[in-house]
Amino acid sequence: MQLAVRVIAAFVSLAALSVAQAAPTVLTNFTLIDGTGRASVPASALIFDDGRISWVGPRSNLKLPSDATVVDLSGKFVLPGLIDNHVHVGLVHDLTQDVNFYSRELVEQQLRIYAAYGVTAVQVLGTDTDVIFGIRADQRKVQTNMARMYTSGQGLVFKGSYGGVAGLNKPVATAAEARQAVDEQVAKGVDFIKLWVDDEFGDLPSRMPPDISQAIIDQAHKHRLRAIAHIFYLENAKTLASQGVDGFAHSVRDLPVDRALLDEMKRHHTVQMAATLSREASFTYTQLPFLDDPFFNRSITPAALATLKSPERQQKLAAGKHFSQYPGVLDIALKNTRREIEAGVPYGVGSDSGPSGRFSGHFLHWELQLMVQAGLSPLQALTAATGTNAKLIGAKDLGTIEPGKNADLLVLDADPLADIRNTRTIHSVYVAGKSVPTIWSICTGRAANECKGRTNGVEHGER
Ligand SMILES: [Zn+2]
Repeated sequence: MQLAVRVIAAFVSLAALSVAQAAPTVLTNFTLIDGTGRASVPASALIFDDGRISWVGPRSNLKLPSDATVVDLSGKFVLPGLIDNHVHVGLVHDLTQDVNFYSRELVEQQLRIYAAYGVTAVQVLGTDTDVIFGIRADQRKVQTNMARMYTSGQGLVFKGSYGGVAGLNKPVATAAEARQAVDEQVAKGVDFIKLWVDDEFGDLPSRMPPDISQAIIDQAHKHRLRAIAHIFYLENAKTLASQGVDGFAHSVRDLPVDRALLDEMKRHHTVQMAATLSREASFTYTQLPFLDDPFFNRSITPAALATLKSPERQQKLAAGKHFSQYPGVLDIALKNTRREIEAGVPYGVGSDSGPSGRFSGHFLHWELQLMVQAGLSPLQALTAATGTNAKLIGAKDLGTIEPGKNADLLVLDADPLADIRNTRTIHSVYVAGKSVPTIWSICTGRAANECKGRTNGVEHGER
């Protein structure tokens, strides 16, 4: 009896396997950059099967499965899909930002744009509606074909202070309200808790008081979740680090970081999660310097491009109240990033893309370039954006090319360790072992007709 049951069980599981499993795929003859931080390895190969990596190693040790699909990647570079640990989604059509735009369709369109840029996972920082939880649940149920997404739902802002997007954040006025607001987000199933401590260059009357930030951090930790803080001022960063905040979502941008903050961050294991250098850099321009670069403008509509080039927009940005301050802010952010890295503070990579004028996917490539400008080696920058970022967002199955990990992969034509800008030479992108459209092969859904023909004769699906 027992034997019969076992035989039937074995038969059933074999039948299930033969239905579920596609043929394994072998990628071979490439240079491996595996996301762990170790040096690149030429003449590598890997096998993935049913969305996961089953083997990786020297090409000479490859045992070719009999039914495998083999992809020869001679001359190419394979790394884990990039992770952007600071984004926003569902807020913007072209350059217009409106909370009423937030929809499943728009969020998924943007997650496909991220994937097309080789960014196969993102962490969204506190500006989501509850629509996000359904999208995430579906992503985690089936093998997704867009960027995987981690969310903090609605971030917590002190009433009347700076933070996030009105209507999508959670204003609190007291420590008790803050604890309750954390509980509400936890009940929805958030991946972490976001809070803002800022007053927008003093334009707003207050910043979140320390008793409230302490309540939020403690309550998040009670639920075993991370608390990630938007900061601007050195003074607030010190307080938050001493209160046990898990990470900073931006650099300190008012003053040079000092020994006291660095010591506090090291004592409490505070992570410099994102420096958001591309965000700060974008504010210094009246016209972004890459509008004619197809790697950028393929992902936006002709209407948005025309607006970005318009003299009206340039005049408006130049007349902005804080425009003259932004170069100084960027300079401090670059220097503080370097100081923290030299001091041994752990760091990830995030762009803060998603709000109007800060473009999904493209900005992470710019961020990597700026992280290198701040003092990282290309290998350090890429390790931060893959293996380290996966750990920081709590994604155990992502970020490195190792057996058991998801087959989320970025294949490049040129060596990103020789020049970090080579992350833009995207050959192909895989999410869960499935090839997804790259930025060279797609345009945004709404602009598909228009965008064909405006890319110097490059047709859809071609490089
Ligand atoms: Zn942000």
